[in-house]
Amino acid sequence: MNVGKLFILSAPSGTGKSTILKKVMNDLEGVAFSISHTTREPRKGEKDGVDYHFIDRSVFMSMKEKGDFLEDANVHGNLYGTSRRGVEEQRAAGLDVILDIDVQGAGIIRESGESEALYIFLAPPSLEELERRLRGRGLDDDETIITRLKNARREMQAINEFEYVIINEKIDEAARMFEAVILAQRSRDRRHITGSPLPYTTWCS
Ligand code: 5GP
Repeated sequence: MNVGKLFILSAPSGTGKSTILKKVMNDLEGVAFSISHTTREPRKGEKDGVDYHFIDRSVFMSMKEKGDFLEDANVHGNLYGTSRRGVEEQRAAGLDVILDIDVQGAGIIRESGESEALYIFLAPPSLEELERRLRGRGLDDDETIITRLKNARREMQAINEFEYVIINEKIDEAARMFEAVILAQRSRDRRHITGSPLPYTTWCS
């Protein structure tokens, strides 16, 4: 059976990651999104089991103790974790799994020696542009924007730990580049454009 790959996408907040992810999920067959667990409160419009599994701290800690998380991290004071079983099930079904996690989480998976993972960093064109976007969305107060910019500066220092870097100048182009990374990997794995195995893979082994 064909086993899908892990595509780890990290980006400072406000870079447009969710919009790009939605587009990629919509455009490509054979990809699944890993829904993380978090202790943060749902934002307006977010749904439990769709955007995140929203859980309280005690549940999170007991899952962590049981080893249920492939990686977990404290991001801006809230806990986030990737379900090991969720990812394994999706990959076993032959799907490529996209993880939207922060640079700490990406580092944990990298250090665990997970060889089936590709690391992609999505960056804003500049910190000035990121600030303009964060202010433009009108979601955060001044203090939050300053914290986010400080975090962005720190996260961008990890850029060289990623195999692929995509600059989000234009959403469509950035999404196309991310799709190109996934498709190139499928080609490399002797898989079909949809991610499924070629009918004659045994010829190549
Ligand atoms: P937000 O709360 O704005 O949705 O996400 C905040 C940050 O947490 C983002 O950088 C996002 O990539 C990261 N994040 C979301 N889920 C996970 C996870 O399961 N693990 C880690 N390490 N980071 C996560």
